[in-house]
Amino acid sequence: MFEPLPQYPDHLALEEEILAWWDAEHVFDRLRERNRGGPPFGFMDGPITANNPMGAHHCWGRTLKDVFQRYKALQGHDLRYQNGFDCQGLWVEVGVERELGLNSKREIEEYGIAEFAQRCKERVAKYAEIITDQCRRLGMWMDWGNDYYTFSDTNIEYIWRFLKECHERGWLYKGHRSVEWCPRCGTSLSQHELINSYAELTHPSLYVRFPLEGRQGESLVVWTTTPWTLPANVAAAVKPDAEYGLTDGGDWWAVERNPDATFVRRVRGEELVGQEYEGPFDSLPAQEGVVHRVIPWDEVALTEGTGIVHIAPGCGAEDFELSRVHDLPVLTPIDEAGNFYKEYGEFEGRSTQDVEGPVVVELERRGLLVEAGSIVHRYPICWRCSTPLVFRIADDWMIRADEIRQPMLDANATVQWTPDFYSKRMDDWLRNMGDWNISRSRYFGLPLPFYPCDSCGRLTVVGSLDELRGRATGGLEQLKELHRPWIDDVPIRCDCGAELKRVPEVGDAWLDAGIVPFSTLGWENPEWKEHGYATGAAAGLTGADLPDHAYWEKWFPAHWVSEMREQIRLWFYSQCFMSVTLTGKSPYLSVLTYEKLLDEHGREMHRSWGNAINAAEALQNIGADVIRFMFCEHVPSQNLKFGYGPAAEIRRRLLTLWNSVKFFVDYANVGGFRPGPEVPGELQPLDRWLLERTEQLAAEMTDAYERYWTPALIRAFDSFVDDLSNWYIRRSRRRFWNGDEVALWTLWYALVRSLQVIGPVMPFLADYLWRRLRAEDATDSVFLAPWPEPRARDEQLLHEVAEVRRVVELGRQARGDASIKLRQPLRRLVVQGARSAQPHADEIAEELRVKEVEFGPVEAMEVRVKPNLPLLGPKLGKELGAVRSALEAGEFEQLAGGGVRVNGRELAPEEVLVERRPRAGWALAEDDAVTVAVTTELDDELRLEGRVLDLIHQLNSMRKDAGLALTDRIRVTLPASLADLLEHADWIKEEVLATEIATDSVSEPEIELQGSDPEGV
Ligand SMILES: [Zn+2]
Ligand SMILES: [Zn+2]
Repeated sequence: MFEPLPQYPDHLALEEEILAWWDAEHVFDRLRERNRGGPPFGFMDGPITANNPMGAHHCWGRTLKDVFQRYKALQGHDLRYQNGFDCQGLWVEVGVERELGLNSKREIEEYGIAEFAQRCKERVAKYAEIITDQCRRLGMWMDWGNDYYTFSDTNIEYIWRFLKECHERGWLYKGHRSVEWCPRCGTSLSQHELINSYAELTHPSLYVRFPLEGRQGESLVVWTTTPWTLPANVAAAVKPDAEYGLTDGGDWWAVERNPDATFVRRVRGEELVGQEYEGPFDSLPAQEGVVHRVIPWDEVALTEGTGIVHIAPGCGAEDFELSRVHDLPVLTPIDEAGNFYKEYGEFEGRSTQDVEGPVVVELERRGLLVEAGSIVHRYPICWRCSTPLVFRIADDWMIRADEIRQPMLDANATVQWTPDFYSKRMDDWLRNMGDWNISRSRYFGLPLPFYPCDSCGRLTVVGSLDELRGRATGGLEQLKELHRPWIDDVPIRCDCGAELKRVPEVGDAWLDAGIVPFSTLGWENPEWKEHGYATGAAAGLTGADLPDHAYWEKWFPAHWVSEMREQIRLWFYSQCFMSVTLTGKSPYLSVLTYEKLLDEHGREMHRSWGNAINAAEALQNIGADVIRFMFCEHVPSQNLKFGYGPAAEIRRRLLTLWNSVKFFVDYANVGGFRPGPEVPGELQPLDRWLLERTEQLAAEMTDAYERYWTPALIRAFDSFVDDLSNWYIRRSRRRFWNGDEVALWTLWYALVRSLQVIGPVMPFLADYLWRRLRAEDATDSVFLAPWPEPRARDEQLLHEVAEVRRVVELGRQARGDASIKLRQPLRRLVVQGARSAQPHADEIAEELRVKEVEFGPVEAMEVRVKPNLPLLGPKLGKELGAVRSALEAGEFEQLAGGGVRVNGRELAPEEVLVERRPRAGWALAEDDAVTVAVTTELDDELRLEGRVLDLIHQLNSMRKDAGLALTDRIRVTLPASLADLLEHADWIKEEVLATEIATDSVSEPEIELQGSDPEGV
């Protein structure tokens, strides 16, 4: 007996059941044991930030990772299965700040950096556990418990080593520059953190006068959307070759920017250069001694503003560059938190936003305000806390990128990207990447091991914990881990003898993730250390070992990595940067990348919009298999619309597989069938076809897995299930009713094989069904069975049946277009094309309920041609009427290429509208190469048969509604009005399993179970 299936699958319940079973039977451990020593397949997991529960979008990447790891394991590969958690840096800090209600660096320092670090670690531990549970529920098989945590001391040491290498190559420098700054987080952001992080914001739009020195009544007019930068103004820039004019009101503008004004004088921009002017806030202490003057700048835009640009080098990147060229003073008005310094008088202590009002009031009071409005524009915001960014001059630690750019491009050329055009995206990023800003003025992150010396001017970069210990002058006893504040209490000795303190900055979190191909695999580690990765903050959270160098040699570079496209400028980049620096090689051989997850209406998901779905909700409401199926079906280079609607649609589609398995189980149990290794009799042609079709599925799926192309997996599987259910089972129903063992065996074999190849996509459903269908000597889990080895196939047979199905599909379409239901038999069908379907004419006749099938030219079509009036009207003029009547009368000749000859003229294809339609009495459908036409006329014989089929359908529905078993026999009573159908009594009996059929005085057909009480069933 096969264990019967319920009518419908309860995905959630069966997934829980399988999860528990996997655990109880140690299925994953047994799989790993089986593959130990097999050919390695190196996968490196990009760390997930352990800062929140997973969102639905995380399930996308996690699905792809699991699908291909499962596939490679089924193929017998040895895998590492190490999961990674990203644990430090601003994400985690901002999360903890929110949790504690802290909103500035001052508040963190008051709270205590040690306490704060503790809370960060607790947060990571909490969410690592939650994420682990969610991944397991998704079906992800990983070596849980031996994860890597990027805040381990080991990980940090490896980064130190990389930084020391950069220093030795002369790439490390401290940049004094204008940077995008988040005033809330109190730190700068690097180039890769800025892309795509914008919001539509409303800002003031001010036109302001700068009165010229020595020219009474004349002023420059500038435009600004950042009034807070005006107190730091030192210059005004003009475009040297543009024309500027003085209005009758005494204002200088670029002429192009104020075309309606009356200009009393016009000059070229270069003539204004050097002119001094009165700054807008000269009375502030910060402005003391500043001489404001006009400078030339070719980049001044004449597409917005006034053509005169206000320059504040302390508040903008381009302004800062200009200050170097023109030797301008640099005034930095705001501190780390974005508040004005005390040299800014009445603005002191206020934020950039708070000073907007007072600035406007003051300008107005002094008659300097020409116009004040507002503007809505795209403006950069902090990607973590959404605070609008400002520019500020800061000293950041940078790694020079110029020298490594070409080696990184060369390394990327060795990588196989899927989809392949992303390779070019990576190249673009590498060509344009600036120097890497690696420092953040924060607390819980990688401590940069930089120790500058004021005495000798040298910078010491510590490359390991041992080196730190060797150089330390104290504080080691309190160094519980390599984090602030503890690390800051370990001073070291400079080679010159001076005692040095560490710089206060921590590192960019992408350093943490980028080093993992080295830190987790034991690069240059002489001796394997058991649990040796579980150091510092990671101690107690993981049991991960620190392997030795031989292990690194085995597993580096990774065969495959997969993350979302955004990671091109993040993890793919930082990993590649670090790996090319340390080894000259790409850390991965192939990449699968994918786009963004949107809601089902195509909008971005946001918690505040109420349309976000987190992983927990998705898993609880949709189930893992359906989620995984949805992600696999999607073309990864397009954004995915995720939601309950699309999920319900997939659940509905999966019913075809379920129903096919249930059909098999029900009939196998009726006939007492048990599957053996060999087919129990002679195969019929349709059986042979299904076995070949199953081979084809295995080959197509293997090919798609090898190409990391999941949409092809789903396409191949869907098409197979359709063939299996809507062709093989449909066409073999009668054999199943009769308990035909060969048919049962063939169907069983096809189902079992298909479960094997779809297993990686839908592991729960596959194992659930496998456990019901498997032969007694088969492995208990589908994931322990060997992968089906593809063999040569009968391509001719596959082609024939594919053509038959195509003809049948078109035949159905033709009938549908003519509104003739499939239960109505028809007389004649003509097929043009699809010659290889000809040996199957009987099957086609049966499927399409026609009496005769012919292969040959279809003459059931007429072609009508009309003039395309917008083109032909102007061209033909008066002749149009004659052409039109000739076309209407059918007096034309069709030309090769689609044109028409009519009235002695040749008309081009686009000049006519060609319409092909069936002649009266025919219905017709066609695709590129095949045309199928069917007669639509009915005679008495056809009508009667149609009514018989309606009755059969009705009686079978009644059987189903009455809950009869498949083998129950019935007696049928018909009203007298249906007496003429008794001509086909035997046919009806056979189709509805009736022993008797008679008429009586009933108003509707009735059925009763044979041998039961005549009162009814
Ligand atoms: Zn921020
Ligand atoms: Zn020194």
